[in-house]
Amino acid sequence: MGYLELDVAMTDEQRAVNDMAKRFAMEVLRPIGIKLDKLADPADVIAKDSPLWEIFKKQRELDLHKAAIPKEFGGLAGERDPLTGALIAEQLGYGDAGLAISLGVCNFPFRFAAMSPEPELQQLARDYCEDDKAEMIGCWALTEPEHGSDWILAGQPGLDNPKCGPSLKAVLKGDEYIINGQKAAWVSNGTIATHAVLHVGIDASRGMAGTGIAIVPLDLPGITKGKPLDKIGQRPLNQGELYFEEVRLPKAYMFIGNPDMGTYMIQNILTGANGGMGALFVGLAQAAFDEALTYAKERMQGGVPIFEHKNIKLKLFDMFVSIEAARAYVRRMWAYNATNMPGSLHHAIAAKVLSTETAFKVTSEAISIFGGNGLSKEYPIEKMFRDARASMIEDGENSALALKAASFL
Ligand SMILES: Cc1cc2nc3c(=O)[nH]c(=O)nc-3n(C[C@H](O)[C@H](O)[C@H](O)COP(=O)(O)OP(=O)(O)OC[C@H]3O[C@@H](n4cnc5c(N)ncnc54)[C@H](O)[C@@H]3O)c2cc1C
Repeated sequence: MGYLELDVAMTDEQRAVNDMAKRFAMEVLRPIGIKLDKLADPADVIAKDSPLWEIFKKQRELDLHKAAIPKEFGGLAGERDPLTGALIAEQLGYGDAGLAISLGVCNFPFRFAAMSPEPELQQLARDYCEDDKAEMIGCWALTEPEHGSDWILAGQPGLDNPKCGPSLKAVLKGDEYIINGQKAAWVSNGTIATHAVLHVGIDASRGMAGTGIAIVPLDLPGITKGKPLDKIGQRPLNQGELYFEEVRLPKAYMFIGNPDMGTYMIQNILTGANGGMGALFVGLAQAAFDEALTYAKERMQGGVPIFEHKNIKLKLFDMFVSIEAARAYVRRMWAYNATNMPGSLHHAIAAKVLSTETAFKVTSEAISIFGGNGLSKEYPIEKMFRDARASMIEDGENSALALKAASFL
């Protein structure tokens, strides 16, 4: 028996969107993700002739880029019920986790632009919705070489110390902010993005509590990009540094120029991002489970399929229980947060931690079920394991996130 959808209240529309996302995941993301993962040089992932670009074009064709942008700007936010977003994220994570993250972060600058009262920023949101050639790609630039968890933990006691303030700073001069500094190689879509949500220090006396958020077109003079990052997991996800030298940003592009609001917005962003991660890595865990179950029913040892050996059967059942529990919690959290803005941060973090640790455990157990083949690059499991491991650091290392969440209990 295959996957049984337990959500009895699922509507025909939700089923249709889910099926569309699943087809995209299996026909486009999975095969392209496998190809890109095997490229030895991450620069080839973003080469002109790379299949990477197909995923952005297809995302536009399917209107998946519009999901978080309000209707008045040409988007679909609020048009679908809350669960639909979780279903899409699960399916994309099922196809390829790294590419799903790349697509997920793509809309960041434009969804924030839609929230701004500034006409120029609002126009960006409109242009993004209409961009059927996938010429506009966003990124979220938070982490710095000297400050990773510091950003995630901003708002916690002690982080308002001027000694641990951001290295990247924006200083208001007349009608412009002058930006200097660097974001780390971890910025997803960093080397291919056209626009960034950029977290900046605006009040050095307040450390990580003195920050703002700018929406930055990355073709401004003074901005340069690093080399694509080489890493063990989510290799199809392009990542790289952003450098800023005397960059002049019109004041209107400072989306949050009040430091008190800067920290508050980081929490809101983490609520959304961790919720998304929760759903996406349930998808990856399900993908590894499906591969392991199929393999266990085909691989013969002792004259029978290994599924008939009790240790394998019990392992698969344990994986099944963990995934169903993670999915049920993630969807419940998602429905609450989507209808109770700005949502509950500690519940979103719980979803991210639960689902990424489930994905890690399930992919690791799947390797055992595949035996030696689990370690071979000819089979899909070792990649899923590497992708799952990366997720435990992505959008906040899990134990740092747990510390943050615990302060809300
Ligand atoms: C696949 C992937 C995608 C990513 N995408 C993005 C992105 O799109 N944009 C972006 O800006 N960043 C991104 N990141 C970066 C990510 O957010 C950071 O790597 C993460 O927040 C950890 O920061 P760090 O790597 O500097 O580790 P550090 O902060 O140096 O942490 C190292 C260890 O020390 C612990 N630690 C640090 N500080 C404390 C503390 N105060 N108390 C207790 N323990 C602490 C941490 O828990 C961790 O175990 C991504 C990372 C990955 C892996």
